[in-house]
Amino acid sequence: MALERLPILELKNLCKTYELKGHRAVDALKAVHLELYPGECLGIVGESGSGKSTLARCITHLERVNSGQIQYRQQDITRLNGKLLRQQRKQIQMVFQEPSAIFNPRMKIGAFIREPLINYKIMKGQKAEQEVLRLLERVGLSAATADKYPHELSGGEQQRAVIARAIGVEPDIILFDEATSALDVSIQQQILDLLVELRKETGISSIFISHDLAVVQQVSDRIAVMYQGEVVEVVESSRLTSSANHPYTRSLMSSVLSVREMRYRMQGQRQKQEREQAEIFQESLSG
Ligand code: ADP
Ligand code: MG
Repeated sequence: MALERLPILELKNLCKTYELKGHRAVDALKAVHLELYPGECLGIVGESGSGKSTLARCITHLERVNSGQIQYRQQDITRLNGKLLRQQRKQIQMVFQEPSAIFNPRMKIGAFIREPLINYKIMKGQKAEQEVLRLLERVGLSAATADKYPHELSGGEQQRAVIARAIGVEPDIILFDEATSALDVSIQQQILDLLVELRKETGISSIFISHDLAVVQQVSDRIAVMYQGEVVEVVESSRLTSSANHPYTRSLMSSVLSVREMRYRMQGQRQKQEREQAEIFQESLSG
């Protein structure tokens, strides 16, 4: 039991500075310290520019940190490269905001989901084909989706396909960076529900990043609040309303309430619209 409480991922004093010629250097991460525990969903919230994506990119080695250490299962992975990095990449998958950006427009969805299975030599041939169908079902897509091209899918379906591809390699950790932010509110909710469901089934650890605290709160166990490159507070998601101390967290929370309120109103509006349409439909039937 004590062993289970060892973090699966540990970030120690991570610093990242962007230097651009002719510009002032930006300290995107200032000594960030965080732990992710097995099976946990850690939320990361903060306004635009607070360093959330930089953190995700450093964890997945899309960016190199200037200093600090990244530990995965008690091993230092900060400066991995080559073959070891490739192997590590399988363990930590990432889902981005814009699914359309990562599709090859000429590759059918089935091939897209199958690709990492083949590349990582997890499965091939008939077995891989069957696994694709299983993965599609798991993320709530029909088997027929395998034969479609990305442009034939809606934004929500595309994001489901991306999630299917990510879970296919059975990673230890999935990072979601604003993964639902580009979707309509109702579709966003469906994807959030899917993530909660998948997590119950698979126990995959995850880091869920969003600028929207209401969204982060729905899926996370703990929430790290970022402000100008620093983690200013880590709070238990369920105790957020009572235990947040930092004034910045509180200001984020007041905007949560307004987002909730907005959603509530939108829902009400949609229901009203549906009712009206149903009435019109009834009238036309009754002539
Ligand atoms: P967030 O995801 O929270 O919106 P980012 O991690 O994208 O924040 O950005 C953090 C800070 O680093 C911002 O000030 C941003 O302008 C800057 N930044 C991000 N990426 C780069 C880059 N490639 N080059 C220079 N500055 C960058
Ligand atoms: Mg970002």
